[in-house]
Amino acid sequence: MIDAALKRRFTGQVAVVTGAAGGIGSAIARRLADEEAVTVVCDIDETAANEVASSIGRAGGKADFVPFDLADGDACRKAVGDIVARYGQIDVLVNNAGVNRRGDLLSLSEDDWEASFAVNVHPLFHLCRAVLPRMAARGGGAIVNTASQWGLNPAGAHIAYNVTKAAVVAFTRSLARDHAMDGVRVNAVCPGEIRTPMLESGLARTGRTVADLDAEVPFGRIGTPEEVASLVAFLASDEVPYMCGSIVEITGGQAVG
Ligand code: NAD
Repeated sequence: MIDAALKRRFTGQVAVVTGAAGGIGSAIARRLADEEAVTVVCDIDETAANEVASSIGRAGGKADFVPFDLADGDACRKAVGDIVARYGQIDVLVNNAGVNRRGDLLSLSEDDWEASFAVNVHPLFHLCRAVLPRMAARGGGAIVNTASQWGLNPAGAHIAYNVTKAAVVAFTRSLARDHAMDGVRVNAVCPGEIRTPMLESGLARTGRTVADLDAEVPFGRIGTPEEVASLVAFLASDEVPYMCGSIVEITGGQAVG
């Protein structure tokens, strides 16, 4: 739970989080709900999304879940329509879902390349197009995108991931530039190594350990989903309204992938 002295920055707001059944996404959903947002847990994994929303409810928060496949543009538009029909508004959109199809140009399949764009990039287009005019009509809102440190400093043998996360960075800056005047603040976070199922799947593949990764981080350890969630909540709040188009790294001092 968050510090009792902390302000409840999202009271009366509706927050939508994608990939919210996963490691970082579920931490973001819990954090926003802790700060009194009505939080909508979106994920392709219906059972896990239901469980995250239920556990938020058991902890005293308000949450709902809307399962859909982000790779389907029609499903993205329908989900936004359903959420607005149910709650009347969307104040915060966190585009957090992602996949990490590993490989270099020659080892990656065409499917890996296309699936990376289908989940990491295209949903930002569909969801923001559906949400942004509604935010603007209500005087504003906040969009936070989960990019990656590797979108700034490419890691070896992760070409699809690096390129799609660089696209998230460029998308964030473009959207901020075009829509700041509508009161919609758009920012992105660039996490380094964070302990989640995505990271664990990479370790399982390479035989490396968390201790190996810890040793590579100047701070002495890899990050937690809750640390990323804390940053996302800060960017989604109106604590620093002038922050718009910012790309914020959270890496424990690690400079490259
Ligand atoms: P995760 O695998 O735990 O969670 C990803 C979630 O996205 C899962 O719940 C999954 O079901 C969902 N998802 C995948 N495809 C989907 C689809 N087609 N439709 C709807 N939902 C879908 O991963 P995570 O580590 O929590 O990653 C969250 C975000 O953080 C991703 O964008 C990832 O690229 C980024 N990130 C992670 C790290 C890290 O070290 N873990 C570092 C930098 C950036």
